[in-house]
This record gives sequence, C-alpha cells and structure tokens, in this order.
Amino acid sequence: MFKKLILGMLVSSSCVLLANEVNIYSVRHYDTDKQLFKMFENKTGIKVNVVKAKGGALLKRLSIEGKKTPADVLITVDAANLFKAKTKGLLQAINSSYLKKNIPENLRDKDNQWFALTKRARVAVVTIDSNTDKEITTYEDLASSKFKGQIVVRASNNIYNQSLLSAMIEHHGEAYSLKWAKAIVENMARTPKGNDRAQVKAVANGLGKIAIANTYYIGKMINNKDKSQRDAVSKMKIVFPVFKNGGTHINISGAGVTKYSYNKANAIKFIEFLASKDAQKLFAQANFEYPILKGVKASKLVSSWGVFQEDNISMNSLGQNNAKAVKIFDKAKWR
Ligand code: FE
Repeated sequence: MFKKLILGMLVSSSCVLLANEVNIYSVRHYDTDKQLFKMFENKTGIKVNVVKAKGGALLKRLSIEGKKTPADVLITVDAANLFKAKTKGLLQAINSSYLKKNIPENLRDKDNQWFALTKRARVAVVTIDSNTDKEITTYEDLASSKFKGQIVVRASNNIYNQSLLSAMIEHHGEAYSLKWAKAIVENMARTPKGNDRAQVKAVANGLGKIAIANTYYIGKMINNKDKSQRDAVSKMKIVFPVFKNGGTHINISGAGVTKYSYNKANAIKFIEFLASKDAQKLFAQANFEYPILKGVKASKLVSSWGVFQEDNISMNSLGQNNAKAVKIFDKAKWR
C-alpha cells in the first residue's frame, strides 16, 4: 500500500516535469528551424521535441494515434494539407488574439484551426538570356499555343500544383481550369518528372523555355553544395505571373494545434513565438520564404527577386478546391 503510494507520487511528479514541453510534427526540415526552436526553449524553458516527415505521413500518423498522439503542433508546407488535417478532425481552434490580429484573414483557417507562418510564391523560371519573361504576364498566358513544347513542370500528384490549380478554379471556375490544364499538357516539353528543382535544371540545360517552381527553390539552388545546381540556377531568372484579375499565386507554411494536444498552452505559445517579430525573420529566411508579419523584411536574396502583387484569395479555397483540382488533372491527363 505504502509502496503504491510512493510510486503514485513519483509518477505524478514526473508527469509534472514532463509537462513543460511541446511536441511538434513538422514537414519542415531546415537547420534554421532548429535554431529557432532553441531560441524558444531558452526564452520559455519549454522543451521542444520534433518529429519530421512528409505531410501525408504526418496526417496519417495523427489519424492512427488519435487521442494517444504525443503531438501538440502540426506544421506543414502547404495550405491544402492544413485544410485536410482540419477536415479529418485532427486540429482544434486556437484562441489567440495575437495570431488573429497579426495574421491576415486570407492566410488563416476561418475557424482559427491553423495560421500561416511564412509565404512562398509559385512562379515561372526562365533563362536570363531569353526574352520569354516579356511573353509571360499571367498564368493564363502559359496556356498559349506559342509555348507548345516549352513548359517543364512536375507531376500532378504534387500538392503545390494542386494548389495552383485550386487557385485557378477559384478565379475562373472548373470549365476554364480544365481547358487551361489541357493546354499546359499540350505545352509540356516532357512527361512530368522530378521535383521543382529538376524543372529549373532542365530549362537551364536547354529543355524547354519555362519551368514552374516555388520561389524558395531558387534560393536553395543558389546556396547548394552541389555545383550542378548552382551552375544551373545561375542561368535563370524569376518571372512572377499573375492571375487575370488577381495576383501571383502564393502558398503558405503554417501550423495548427492538434485536437488531442496535451500541452495546449505551450503549443499556442510556440505558434505565437513563430509568428513573433523576433522569430519571423529567421523562420522565413530559413527557407528563402516571405515573412507573414507586417514590417518584417524578406532576406536580401529573396528581396532581390523583385516585388510582386500577391494573389489575395483565401488559403481555405486551396483546400476546398483540392478534390476538384485532382479530378481536373486526371481529365487533362497531366501525369
Ligand atoms: Fe517544397
């Protein structure tokens, strides 16, 4: 009896010790993120534990773990994945006046279950010595037959392409988006393969004229150990297309608190920290992204790519239109 009591006390006291932590499931895998988490630990005394995996794998894991999940925070690199997490009931509303005040309404969940922390643009990348940039004003332009055999872009199972098409659906509806996707397939220089960087490399090496990629990959290629990536990107420049009647397509990296978070207060503190002025600069720079917080500048390199008009549709629509986008890709035979 006495023994049991002592054991009980030990267990409960160790629980109290363990409780000052926050457990993160993150799709991001950058060293600077690690630095930031250290900053948070030093500031708050809350220990940060991170599990890293791809978006789909983390959502699956959260689903399977259910109430037993150790995760408090989910961080993804695409709005559609946060939307999916919410739809699957894996997140909960975050009550934070700081986040609501500082993160624009179109960049957060309408029920406050997730908030954007950084932004990235999906753009056209062309060779420096070409005049192709003068021929591209809009995403709709990319469907022009003058670009037949000139576009290299990754496969349609990629969430960034799905979100780009979801934005197209939001602007112009499904019928136009199907026409557009079909025309892009017609314009492809090859059957889609490889990641965004592989598209940039292909155009640098003379295959096609236009690569579609997220902006931060240009930064990653410039700062790469691999010389072939540095050489390829040194020949390229970014074009920021806009949607007709809109802006340049952006996507987000963002975070939510898991439905069964055990350390909810710490989780909210953690997300607020990532959205704070101190953290924003580093958090965005970590991956050559754009900060979400007003008044915080992007890195010198990112700023050197130029300013652009952001498309201001709600990030919620990227998730809402995802299933339609996947179907359209299928119909258009975009591999
Ligand atoms: Fe990426």
